[in-house]
Amino acid sequence: MTYDFCYEALPMRVRFGAGALASLPGELDEIGLRRVLVLCSPGQEDTGELVVSALGERCVGLRADAVMHVPAQVAEHAQAEVVSLGADGCVAVGGGSAIGLGKAIALKHDLPIVAVPTTYAGSEMTPVWGLTTDGRKETGRDPKVLPRSVIYDPDLTLSLPVGMSVTSGINAMAHAVEALYAPDATPIISLMAEEGVRALAAALPVIVTDNAEASGRSQALYGAWLCGAALGATTMSLHHKLCHALGGSLNLPHSETHTVVLPYALAFNEPYAPDAAAALSRALGVSADPADRLWQLSRELHAPQSLAELGMRESDIGRIAEEVTSRSYGNPRPITYDSVHNLLAAAWAGQWPVADGSPSA
Ligand code: NAD
Repeated sequence: MTYDFCYEALPMRVRFGAGALASLPGELDEIGLRRVLVLCSPGQEDTGELVVSALGERCVGLRADAVMHVPAQVAEHAQAEVVSLGADGCVAVGGGSAIGLGKAIALKHDLPIVAVPTTYAGSEMTPVWGLTTDGRKETGRDPKVLPRSVIYDPDLTLSLPVGMSVTSGINAMAHAVEALYAPDATPIISLMAEEGVRALAAALPVIVTDNAEASGRSQALYGAWLCGAALGATTMSLHHKLCHALGGSLNLPHSETHTVVLPYALAFNEPYAPDAAAALSRALGVSADPADRLWQLSRELHAPQSLAELGMRESDIGRIAEEVTSRSYGNPRPITYDSVHNLLAAAWAGQWPVADGSPSA
């Protein structure tokens, strides 16, 4: 084996453990925050209030309007409120939507954020921000949006419904899969990615059997941390481009779309990424074809199986294939309109993904 890589570590400060939310005031002390705005999604006010009471007088407000893909208007209101309250930072509690809103504030005002993730989406580990204006999502990388501290408390994930836990967990695995064959893959991130997939593949069946089982919840969040770190450290390829197009242009649901597409994207790429395929086989405990195992696993976990089931029309396949192939980006296997069309047609119908990327009978 010969090595050839460039590795730049992101500054990560992570507190992990059941009840870790109690360490929030100490984390704010480390950063020097005195007046923070708490952010969460609608429907997550109870969790938001838990954070508010953990903060006591240091909390100057709670906003519960974080939604998927950070609409510019929502971001502008939150950015203005930070100024009117004289806040010196934010605590974002929730999934990628709440953390994304925190990042929009950090981007505009250069204020530190502390993230308390309650899904497995992984945004808390990345310097990537997103903002949606008139239906167009713009994304970028900026170190100032990377949370200064992340508190992973598995107790806060106990309320995540089983279906959402499964799709969010497979969404996390997708980051690890693409990190393993990324153009900028590095040995340490590959180890984290492999371990992240192993942890989630072990934890999700436990959660499906018992949503509140403590070790399953802890293991799933641990896997999500590793997969999020892999996402933050590498460049994503075809799978993420497909999901970005399907979510952005057709408004398909985020984690469910990742769940359906992943086995197909992996089946397409795995003949061209043998080291990644071997790592994933080890992580999933199979002797060959990790794409096949992922497909089976998502069936066993009762996850959605086809893009048709998520509301996509067959007539939109060509449009998405066009969008995904209109720009060039790194992917282990060369991409053509026809091959992406075949992949999408198989995923739309929920047909068994085969390793050459074309649908089987
Ligand atoms: P989300 O944050 O919208 O959460 C999904 C749903 O789950 C919401 O209704 C939320 O209220 C609910 N929820 C969250 N935690 C819960 C809990 N513990 N119990 C019960 N319900 C809970 O969705 P997500 O999948 O976490 O994140 C997706 C968003 O994050 C997308 O906009 C995506 O683009 C973005 N994202 C960004 C990055 C990045 O690096 N910038 C990475 C991953 C995802």
